[in-house]
Amino acid sequence: MTGNTHVVVIGGGYAGVMAANRLTQRDDVTVTLINPRPELVHRVRLHQLVGGSDDAVVAYQDVLSERVRLLVDTVTLINAAGRSVTLADGGVLAYDYLIYAVGSGSAEPSVPGAAGFAYPIASLEEARRLRAVLDATPATAPVTVVGAGPSGIETAAELAEQGRRVTLVCGGVLGPYLHTRGRRSVAKRLADLGVTVVDGTGTKVTAVTRDAVRLADGRELPSEVTVWTVGFGVPDLAARSGLSTDAVGRVLTDETLTSVDDERILAAGDSAAPSGLALRMSCLNATPLGARAADTVLSRLAGEQPEHLHQSFSAQCVSLGRGAGIYQFANRSDVAVPLYIGAGLAAKIKEAVCQGIPKHLSGEAHKPGSFSLHRMPGGVAKRRQLLRAHRAETPATPDGAGTPATADRAA
Ligand SMILES: Cc1cc2nc3c(=O)[nH]c(=O)nc-3n(C[C@H](O)[C@H](O)[C@H](O)COP(=O)(O)OP(=O)(O)OC[C@H]3O[C@@H](n4cnc5c(N)ncnc54)[C@H](O)[C@@H]3O)c2cc1C
Repeated sequence: MTGNTHVVVIGGGYAGVMAANRLTQRDDVTVTLINPRPELVHRVRLHQLVGGSDDAVVAYQDVLSERVRLLVDTVTLINAAGRSVTLADGGVLAYDYLIYAVGSGSAEPSVPGAAGFAYPIASLEEARRLRAVLDATPATAPVTVVGAGPSGIETAAELAEQGRRVTLVCGGVLGPYLHTRGRRSVAKRLADLGVTVVDGTGTKVTAVTRDAVRLADGRELPSEVTVWTVGFGVPDLAARSGLSTDAVGRVLTDETLTSVDDERILAAGDSAAPSGLALRMSCLNATPLGARAADTVLSRLAGEQPEHLHQSFSAQCVSLGRGAGIYQFANRSDVAVPLYIGAGLAAKIKEAVCQGIPKHLSGEAHKPGSFSLHRMPGGVAKRRQLLRAHRAETPATPDGAGTPATADRAA
């Protein structure tokens, strides 16, 4: 390719900003980042927005390179054949390469009443709406958090710390990723905060009403505010645009993050499914995937062979209010082991992670090419082993059959 190359990045989250910044290494590449809001949503702090201890936004001027053009708009369609995207304002933007980084949001709830009466928290607008509802609700009113993955546990702890009467409905086990020892520690901290944990068989929610939550075992829990944290979904833009996706809607790519349909389209972050084996949805994966997608584009422009993904990730870090947390270690197959860090030290690690993300993005804005976590050696063998196991148990189908219809966040 000669002359200037225009790369369009859809989505200004962790993956998109990292990719956009990294592409500025070359003077002959112009980058446009399209995002619906004029600020970066620091999603890992959305439960803090709900609890009132953070606003969960970061100014783009602090994390985005001056060389990246930010277009505040929403892409409504990708025209792969014509190499262009259509914008909500009616405009059309041409690209040479496209990086798809639209992230994730709340999965559409299928439980009767949940869509009308429960409050999800996976987007800025949802978290702000819930915050306003809580502000207008007496502190003594019963609040129910549905879902005991990391987001549910963090939200329950955050609200209890604010003096709310919180019940956490697990629909099964508390913190499914956690080892029994780690789970015990989380249960103790939640009990200390006054959270009532409802777990075990029969605790799946079957209906939500204006003032109650009904469980499969017939119990009805009074609930003035119901918070819904049951799984993430992804935007349907790729599927609507005719790109191959997995069952959740993530773009199917190869191990260089290139779409299986089109060499000029790449995907990164929560909305990518490399080889149909998506990495767990997390900022810890999104940022390195953004760097990897940019590297693939840069390699192609340089006439070099792009490197393959070798992400290694096996742990979960969950905050339990402002002063405590758990850092759950896992083995190389990503199964939790008895070892964990708890209490105040885990809270400090979690806070360091939250502060570290904008620092990584800002570092890449000022010194493009400096981020290197996606190049850390060690993940290749594990990724290959996972891919072999995945291919053995799932026949290779373009629609990614076998993948769950929703996914929870990973870390
Ligand atoms: C409460 C909460 C706590 C979390 N805590 C952690 C944690 O502790 N650790 C961790 O690893 N992960 C955590 N996560 C998950 C983490 O936030 C996500 O995995 C991460 O944000 C994914 O990054 P991304 O760049 O792929 O997408 P996102 O951060 O979702 O960004 C995608 C961007 O694309 C934009 N977009 C979407 N559609 C379009 C379109 N059509 N046109 C233009 N732009 C579009 C979106 O508005 C958004 O700005 C948490 C999530 C939540 C909700």
